[in-house]
Amino acid sequence: MKKKEWIVLLVIGGIALIGILALQILGKMRAKQNQALQSTYVVDVFVDDKVVETFDPNENATYTIEGNYGLMEIEVKEGQWHVSHVECPNHICEKMGWKTVDDIEPIVCLPNGIQLLARVNGN
Ligand SMILES: [Zn+2]
Repeated sequence: MKKKEWIVLLVIGGIALIGILALQILGKMRAKQNQALQSTYVVDVFVDDKVVETFDPNENATYTIEGNYGLMEIEVKEGQWHVSHVECPNHICEKMGWKTVDDIEPIVCLPNGIQLLARVNGN
C-alpha cells in the first residue's frame, strides 16, 4: 500500500474511534440524567388529609401504615409500589397492583382513608 492510503485508513479509523467514544460518553450522560429524573419523585402516603409517610420509589422498602380501618403494608421495589397486605373490607387497594410515577391513577383505600400520591420532590 502507498503512504497516502495508510494515512486515509488511519484518519477513517481515528474518526470511527472518536465516534464510538462520543457515543459511550453520551450514553453515560443520558443514564445519569434518567437517574436524576427518577430520583426527583417521591410518594406521599395520606391518611385522611395528613401525610403520614413519604418514600422514595427507588429505595426498596416496606412500610406499614395505620389507617382508619386497620393496617396497610406497602411494598416499594425498583421504582414501583403496591399494597402487599391490607386490613380493609374490599381489598380494592390491594387489587390495584403495582404503580409507578407514570400512573395517573393513585392507589386509594377508601375504608382506611389512605391515598398514595406521587409528586415531584421539592414541590
Ligand atoms: Zn383497601
